[in-house]
Amino acid sequence: MDYKIPLFDLNFDEAEEAAVLETIRSKWISTGPKTAEFENKFGALLGAEYAVALSNCTVALHLALKLVGVMEHDEVICPSLTFVATCNAIRYLDAVPVFADIKSYSDLTIDPEDIERKITSKTKAIVVMHYGGFACDMVRIMEIAKKYELKVVEDACHGPLSEYNGKKLGTIGDIGCFSFFSNKNISTGEGGMLVTNNETYFERAKLLRSHGMTTMSFDRARGHSTAYDVVELGFNYRMDDIRAAIGLVQLDKIKMDLEKRAAIRKVYVELLKDRDDIIIPFEDYKEFSSNYIFPIVLKNSTFTKRDKVREKLAEAGVQTSIHYPAVHRFSIYRDYYSSLPLSEYICDNEITLPMYSSLSTEEIKYITNNLIKANYEYSI
Ligand SMILES: *Cc1c(COP(=O)(O)O)cnc(C)c1O
Repeated sequence: MDYKIPLFDLNFDEAEEAAVLETIRSKWISTGPKTAEFENKFGALLGAEYAVALSNCTVALHLALKLVGVMEHDEVICPSLTFVATCNAIRYLDAVPVFADIKSYSDLTIDPEDIERKITSKTKAIVVMHYGGFACDMVRIMEIAKKYELKVVEDACHGPLSEYNGKKLGTIGDIGCFSFFSNKNISTGEGGMLVTNNETYFERAKLLRSHGMTTMSFDRARGHSTAYDVVELGFNYRMDDIRAAIGLVQLDKIKMDLEKRAAIRKVYVELLKDRDDIIIPFEDYKEFSSNYIFPIVLKNSTFTKRDKVREKLAEAGVQTSIHYPAVHRFSIYRDYYSSLPLSEYICDNEITLPMYSSLSTEEIKYITNNLIKANYEYSI
């Protein structure tokens, strides 16, 4: 189905095309100078000491947990209201995901008090996810991590350039992970980045992303080194220069794109804030956010009602989504189930409305009018 207003629209133009063409013509298309440039630029934008470009964020999360020392049978506390990759990364290491609930219907990030309740002698790390680009309570979370000597990995997929107490999301915990999947704020098709201020993690991340080999083929091709050793059981988690070239163009656009998104969020909030049947999560949020998505939550609702409202919006040509089906309810997470009432309500009653920088005020009005109408229709 072709929607009149899609959920997301790619912010690509001739600049991305030219960057790809230039890279192809350079004849170096795998990990090389463009990747290094992309890492340096991304790290500098975030104020992170080190950045390692990877094939996607799922592998960034896997590497991050491995780097901070998560091992078989260790427990890792994580949200359930996230994309499944956040939790799958824990399972890749045969560690145990322990789900914590969110703070409230209007703050959809992991609840530090629930994190603390779930800590045991086996807990090794906490993975947080900055929902929609809105920060978790990192002051409390870092305090808890310090008290119990736990590592903190930030799934910052939604939050490139989002700010928190003068820092960028992804640079507060031990390691931050980002995604450049097509529908993220920065798109390279597939792609990811791991950032850290820890040199040991950085050096080992570079080894592990390329088979545990001591040199990269780009260095060998330039004659900088001819031999290599394999010192660890690594992976092929590399990004290639074609994607990095697209990423560099996207970084040039990101500030402007995020400013437009912030303005769009304001229009949405203005149009919906007086409704007593709709919750706008993070309504009074003060920090700069990437506004990856615009979520709303229906009050006194059920998933049947929510789905009907979504259907009505689809009939009006408005594409919506759900962020997220709670991970602890998936079949493969049966063994790790715990009751998470707040996450469950959000997963049943949240609707993600269209959000992208070229969305017009007229379109936003069309979306909110249709939402208000549909929600009213099904409330009686
Ligand atoms: C997109 C996303 C991922 C996975 O990123 P990929 O680059 O697609 O592997 C992980 N966590 C969250 C919260 C995401 O939104």
